[in-house]
Amino acid sequence: MKDLDILIIGAGPIGLACAIEAQKAGLNYLIVEKGALVNSLFNYPLFMTFFSTADRLEIGNIPFMCLAPKPGRQEALEYYRSVANNKKLNINLYEKVEKVKKQLDEGFIVLTSKAEYKAKNVIVATGFYDIPIYMDIPGETLPKVRHYYKEPHEYVMQKILVVGANNSAVDAALEIWRKGGDVTMVIRGDKIGDRVKYWVKPDIENRIKEGSIKAYFNSELLEITDKEVKIKTAGKETIVLENDFVLALTGFRPNFEMLQNFGVEINQQEQCFPAHNLETMETNIPGLFLAGVVCGGLNTHKWFIENSRVHAVKIVEYILRKN
Ligand SMILES: Cc1cc2nc3c(=O)[nH]c(=O)nc-3n(C[C@H](O)[C@H](O)[C@H](O)COP(=O)(O)OP(=O)(O)OC[C@H]3O[C@@H](n4cnc5c(N)ncnc54)[C@H](O)[C@@H]3O)c2cc1C
Repeated sequence: MKDLDILIIGAGPIGLACAIEAQKAGLNYLIVEKGALVNSLFNYPLFMTFFSTADRLEIGNIPFMCLAPKPGRQEALEYYRSVANNKKLNINLYEKVEKVKKQLDEGFIVLTSKAEYKAKNVIVATGFYDIPIYMDIPGETLPKVRHYYKEPHEYVMQKILVVGANNSAVDAALEIWRKGGDVTMVIRGDKIGDRVKYWVKPDIENRIKEGSIKAYFNSELLEITDKEVKIKTAGKETIVLENDFVLALTGFRPNFEMLQNFGVEINQQEQCFPAHNLETMETNIPGLFLAGVVCGGLNTHKWFIENSRVHAVKIVEYILRKN
């Protein structure tokens, strides 16, 4: 079994940034990724546009060239793929990390779906996009209910209920309506989310105002059946609508069970904040680090690519200092 200086879990943008820093420092590292390269981005809606400009998505100071100021999914895939290829990063794809065991003397044994590794340090850069926040209502597991949205075509000429009022829900509602879907939104609060991209917000607000997209504010989805949905509306009145598909775009969360299995303490009172030092990114387990959006716990809006790229530098500098 080969000894690694660092094993990085996850080949998202921040896992890649960690690998670049490790490579620069001459450390022996490996990324283990359970899916495709930048798997979360690969699973984003086909026509999404990032809210960040291209320069803010760059890693390792490698320029991200793009015609429009804000890139889309396809350009981001091209960019991160070319970074990984050019830097010849050590990455094992389609290999899932299942256990991280701290050794009594030094380092960790990491068990994956394919192999066993010994590493002095482990960086968990596993993001939050793998686990949807479920509504826990009857009918949620019906095949017509989706927690991920890919593209509008399958929803054309259908009655769609979109649950949520943030970027994913708003983008899906507008795209589907524009292709001829009959869209209704059910929104827990009294308005469209404040974080919705500034150039998209007036669009959805105006479509709702003119009645092109129907929206129930201060409302909650109660039940889904094969042909209908039941909604509790603001006046506490329950209404039943005909329905073909439900897009429950209610957000995502990190895999807390996995973090706890690795030994990371989770503060249930503080938005499930996973214990780590904000300067070094080291968790309560010496040698085990967190990087990227996983660091926010349930506060998934705290970190994004542009402000968490720096985690890679912090971690590798600290590892070099303590050696
Ligand atoms: C629709 C959408 C739009 C966004 N737009 C922006 C934006 O414009 N600007 C911005 O800065 N941020 C944006 N974000 C936030 C940010 O881009 C993403 O969350 C980003 O992917 C975070 O990078 P990461 O490397 O921390 O995690 P991720 O990219 O999620 O990478 C985590 C990786 O870990 C892998 N993994 C998980 N568990 C295991 C395991 N057990 N074993 C092996 N591998 C594992 C996953 O498969 C995944 O590839 C957006 C997010 C979403 C959902």
